[in-house]
Parts: sequence; C-alpha cells; structure tokens
Amino acid sequence: MERLQLAVIASIVYAVLSVTYSFVGLLSPQPPVNVVGYITAEEILGHALFGFAVGIFSFDLVIALQATAFALAVDGGHLLTQLGVPVNPGVSHSLTFMILSTLLLGYVFRNKISFRKMAAIAMAAFLSHMAFDIIDGGFNGFQLFNPFTFASIMLPVWSVAALELLGIAFVAFAFKENILSLVRR
Ligand SMILES: [Zn+2]
Repeated sequence: MERLQLAVIASIVYAVLSVTYSFVGLLSPQPPVNVVGYITAEEILGHALFGFAVGIFSFDLVIALQATAFALAVDGGHLLTQLGVPVNPGVSHSLTFMILSTLLLGYVFRNKISFRKMAAIAMAAFLSHMAFDIIDGGFNGFQLFNPFTFASIMLPVWSVAALELLGIAFVAFAFKENILSLVRR
C-alpha cells in the first residue's frame, strides 16, 4: 500500500511539473484550443499502453502503473490551453523538460525509492510518450529545444521504436535486480 501511495504522489508531482513547465509556452504564445474537442480515446489509450509497456520491464505492476500515469501526465499542458492560457500544449515535449523532470523526480524521491529508479521511470515514460505522439498523426513535430527555440522538429517514424526501446532499457537497467531475481527463481 505504501508503494502504491508513493506511486500516486510521484505521479501527481510529475503532472504538476508538466503543467508548470507548460507556462514556458507563454514565451511563444498561440491561441488556446478546446482540447476536450479533439482528444480521442485512442490517444489516451495509446499513451497509457506505451507507458505501461516501458514500466512493465521493472517486473513490478506498481511501477508499470506509475510509468503509465507519468506518460499521460506529459500532456499536462493541455490543461492550460483548455483553461484558456495561450500556450502550445506540446511545450512540455522538450529536452529541457525531459532532463528537468528526470533529475527533479529522482532527487525528490531519492530516499523513498532511489534516484536511479525514479529517474529511470520519469525518463522512460517521457520517451514512451514521444514515441506514441509520433504515431499519433495529429502531432506536427516537437519543439524539442524550447525554451531556446520554438521551432518544430519532426522525428522520423523509426524513432518510435528507438524511443520505446530506449525507455525499456532505462527501466530494465534501473530495476535489474528484479530481473535477476526472476532468473534465479
Ligand atoms: Zn503529447
């Protein structure tokens, strides 16, 4: 139960971070869109599945669910645009957010689970989110280098597999003792 509680708290922290970071989008404002109108069930399910798929390589259901929640929370900026804040909801899809969120989550929860494990979940969930957004046709590139430039960068289709596999590798490495204990059993 305590582990589940930790996963929920970490997911809330990650979501708050994602929403907060999205204010960076005010540096390159764009008219707010009615997100509820265009978010589809496939989009939510896709992000959830891709997040779960990287998380399950910890061989721990709670961690897999946490990765699922993180993967969904990357789109926290949608909340701002829904509330009428003129930001691009994709602004959290940047290298700056990836690095900041990974380091911050790892640091904040270092005594609860370990820096390595929490950072790996954050990094992997982010990568899985990017992977699905490439598949999801509605997405026209990422502002990868914001807040330094808001230019959109398209990633090639093959990077879907590369990003997802990289996420899996991070999780598998951080939780390698779980895999080793499975092998020994
Ligand atoms: Zn997204």
